Amino acid sequence: MSTEQQQDQKQNDKVKRLPPSVVKDIELKNQARKLAHLSPISIKVRRCITCQQMFESAGNRNCGCNSRGTGYIAGREII
Ligand SMILES: [Zn+2]
Repeated sequence: MSTEQQQDQKQNDKVKRLPPSVVKDIELKNQARKLAHLSPISIKVRRCITCQQMFESAGNRNCGCNSRGTGYIAGREII
């Protein structure tokens, strides 16, 4: 039995969302991946390993809280 529940809608106010530009970037990457017959990148809600906040992740393990400022691009760890 699975206790996993899909409550994304309910938890929206608690989850740090990806910026639209990043979502767009992932969509573009997914189009390219589809053409290359790769499985698409999925955005999942997970807990930041640094600040414990729930956030939308495209493979990152932290929400960006410890790499704020220049050079940080969400989704950067995507292979
Ligand atoms: Zn964080």
